[in-house]
Amino acid sequence: MTECIVKEPPGARLKENRSRFYGDVPDDLWMDWKWQFRNRICDIKELERLLQCNFSFLSSVLEKYPMAITPYYFCLIDFDGDFFNDPIFLQSVPSPKELSGTLKVDPLEERRDMVVEGLVCRYADRGLVLLTDICPMLCRHCTRKREWHSQWMRSEEEIDNIIVYIQSKTDIHDVILSGGDPLTLPTKKLEGILQRLLDISHVEIVRIGSRFPVVLPYRIDEELCRMLEKYSPVWFNTHFNHRQEITEESKRACRDIVKTGTPMNNQSVLLKGVNDTAEKQMELCRELLQIKVRPYYLFQADEVSGTEHFRTPIKRGKEIINGMNGNISGLGIPHFVVDLTGGLGKVRLA
Ligand SMILES: *Cc1c(COP(=O)(O)O)cnc(C)c1O
Ligand code: SF4
Repeated sequence: MTECIVKEPPGARLKENRSRFYGDVPDDLWMDWKWQFRNRICDIKELERLLQCNFSFLSSVLEKYPMAITPYYFCLIDFDGDFFNDPIFLQSVPSPKELSGTLKVDPLEERRDMVVEGLVCRYADRGLVLLTDICPMLCRHCTRKREWHSQWMRSEEEIDNIIVYIQSKTDIHDVILSGGDPLTLPTKKLEGILQRLLDISHVEIVRIGSRFPVVLPYRIDEELCRMLEKYSPVWFNTHFNHRQEITEESKRACRDIVKTGTPMNNQSVLLKGVNDTAEKQMELCRELLQIKVRPYYLFQADEVSGTEHFRTPIKRGKEIINGMNGNISGLGIPHFVVDLTGGLGKVRLA
């Protein structure tokens, strides 16, 4: 049986929650991404003030894995229902289950493939640049949660070294700007990096991997879009996990990115209780196609300590893809992939 998918539009919920929790914040602040960033919900007191419940049971979790939720994303939670199981709540508010895991901390062993500080080359033709470890929101299922305590951005010197290395390796055709979230960098700085990379004749494409369109869409402003317009070919990968994240605001952000000639793809993570049914994936992917964001990957959750409670068996992902086949436009079906432990790379499972 498919579940009932008639729900109030996510936009209505955002408006209602905003007036309830941030009613005194005027539009110009609310839509200023730096205000959202500065006012992220980072401590238990703030959470308790907003929700009027006791969250002291989270204090030991926060010592190990900090919390940061943008007011915008927080306002997408459906507080009328069982909000402890809301897909937005589960992705953003810590859980005591984060402390009960037994898995390895860095299963992907990225450092082994780091050819210069900040550049991971696991495949001969692609380079992954870790520009910063700062993110607008700390997703509870994050593979990099072990690094959340530091807050770094690459120095000019480190960026120079990365560029020099890529210049010297004529096999590298695809450079992925990642992190953390590369859009936490000032637009000017990001522009300098894009320009230098696209000036290298063997670099054919640059990708930007960012969750800003989902968790803080106001970052996609006019300055950023004007900048993107000047550089080509740039691809944009984002990270929607649930239909509830597709609001008027995130739609507008994606529309503006696509308008600059930058194609968008989505990499979602299969998360228990959030999006682990074929129905939920189809709801998400149908919405994504309408906003011209192509579902690219559905990741099996990595084996990372502190995220065990989100993991599903591999067969779940295969069942989901099988359930989608024939029931949704082929354009809307992502590849189900696992990033193998030990730095062995991505493998397609379905
Ligand atoms: C995921 C990843 C890539 C890109 O892989 P695609 O399958 O081309 O999207 C490149 N380098 C590293 C280290 C990665 O983890
Ligand atoms: S946006 Fe990505 S890197 Fe940042 S916290 Fe979320 S999952 Fe981790």
